[in-house]
Amino acid sequence: MLIVNDEHRLRAGIKSLSKRCSYCSKPLKEYPLIMNDDAGFHVFHAACAAALAIDIQVDLCTFFNPPAPYHQFFVLTTGESERNDEQGGICAINGS
Ligand SMILES: [Zn+2]
Repeated sequence: MLIVNDEHRLRAGIKSLSKRCSYCSKPLKEYPLIMNDDAGFHVFHAACAAALAIDIQVDLCTFFNPPAPYHQFFVLTTGESERNDEQGGICAINGS
């Protein structure tokens, strides 16, 4: 959730800008802010949210494409590719 003013902040349940950023631990101080409540209640400076998102993307990239000698654990496919496979189409995992 993007928070750009006091009204948004109060509706999000953040009482003041003295609350600390979940990423850098510095006071929130000013807008814009990003709130994520999917896995707990976290509020970030917008730049910290971007940095965290990039960190997560880099970690996920490593997870899906691990360096040698590790092997790939998972392959992402779309529901459509699975349906194509059931109908004799091309399998997204092994290309058959
Ligand atoms: Zn921060």
